Amino acid sequence: MAWNKPLPQIDRDMEPFWDALKRHEFVLFRCQECGAWYWPAAFCRNHPNKPLFGSLAWEKASGKGKIFAFNIHYRAFHPGFANDIPYVYALIDLDEGPMFGTRITGCDPKEVHIGLPVEVVYEDITDKYTLPYFQPSKVGAR
Ligand SMILES: [Zn+2]
Repeated sequence: MAWNKPLPQIDRDMEPFWDALKRHEFVLFRCQECGAWYWPAAFCRNHPNKPLFGSLAWEKASGKGKIFAFNIHYRAFHPGFANDIPYVYALIDLDEGPMFGTRITGCDPKEVHIGLPVEVVYEDITDKYTLPYFQPSKVGAR
């Protein structure tokens, strides 16, 4: 079925993240000096005055986290979402530290709660784009 929702707006700094999703890999930006993780791409706060993204690189991450906050949408603010309501949008506290906002799939919205363990699931929406949705972690996987 043709994708009838908005597409991600991808800037050059974030291209590697979206390219990884196409390969079904979840990557985060990581400081190679101190190991701190970031999303989206950012400067490492532990080393001020470093030029640009000097010591940071995209690295494969666990794709796991816990729901920090969420809301359930009962109204479609874009016609493309009319058949999806109700759906859940959540802020996920990733195991590596950064917060990540995305949609929760694979469960009834009523099952979603703060602290729920979740994991990434790749949604290939077009030939060019894959979205990182999250779903409840499979029992025993954590
Ligand atoms: Zn650092």
